[in-house]
Amino acid sequence: MEVTVLYDDLPSPNPGCIKGFGLSLLVQQGGFRLLFDAGSSPDVLLNNARVVGVELKSLNAVVVSHAHLDHTGGLRGLPARNIPVYVPYGQHRGLVSWLHSIGFENVVVVRDLQELGGGAYVMAYPESAISEQSLILESTSGSTMLVGCSHPGVHYMVGKAASRGFKVERVIGGLHLSDQPEYKVRSVVMELKRLGVRGLIPLHCSGGAALQYGRLLGLVREEPALCRSYSI
Ligand SMILES: [Zn+2]
Ligand SMILES: [Zn+2]
Repeated sequence: MEVTVLYDDLPSPNPGCIKGFGLSLLVQQGGFRLLFDAGSSPDVLLNNARVVGVELKSLNAVVVSHAHLDHTGGLRGLPARNIPVYVPYGQHRGLVSWLHSIGFENVVVVRDLQELGGGAYVMAYPESAISEQSLILESTSGSTMLVGCSHPGVHYMVGKAASRGFKVERVIGGLHLSDQPEYKVRSVVMELKRLGVRGLIPLHCSGGAALQYGRLLGLVREEPALCRSYSI
């Protein structure tokens, strides 16, 4: 299974990729393709997909972590509209009607835990002030959690997954720690390690301190970068 960073404001090893504020990750396994978030600009999303050689026409499903524009705006550029789009229960009403208005008819609201097949699960956090959902991918090398902004708190999200029987070993995505004091960032990263996370790829709103402590604690072993793919 492979996760590719299609949208972020990180540097890229590929000069054709355009940086942008937001997040989008593509999950591929065999012929199965799932998009997790879509960044803010459709043009940037489509450009980066083209540069890394991905055909977004043939997506099987879309998972939207939460309603913020830096995760949803790029959906306007997707060529396929007849695919299921999973959104988290909570502040979902405006998002669902917006998705309907741009042609996505098959919108699924996730209240708790939903299995997508092929070892993929969506876990919702409607109890959070900003409702969000994560994507858990189970492969032969363990479980990986994809997160958008981690508004509920990434350690809370991993802990809730653990309470439901998922042993999350890797976390990829936005950790929402860029505006937090260093002691808080350190304690969140230490808590991830205590929960059994062994690999971390901090993207988007994670901040420099999360990267630094992630490296220090041995969790960040692969550099986060735009248009880079990670095997999970
Ligand atoms: Zn965000
Ligand atoms: Zn957000």
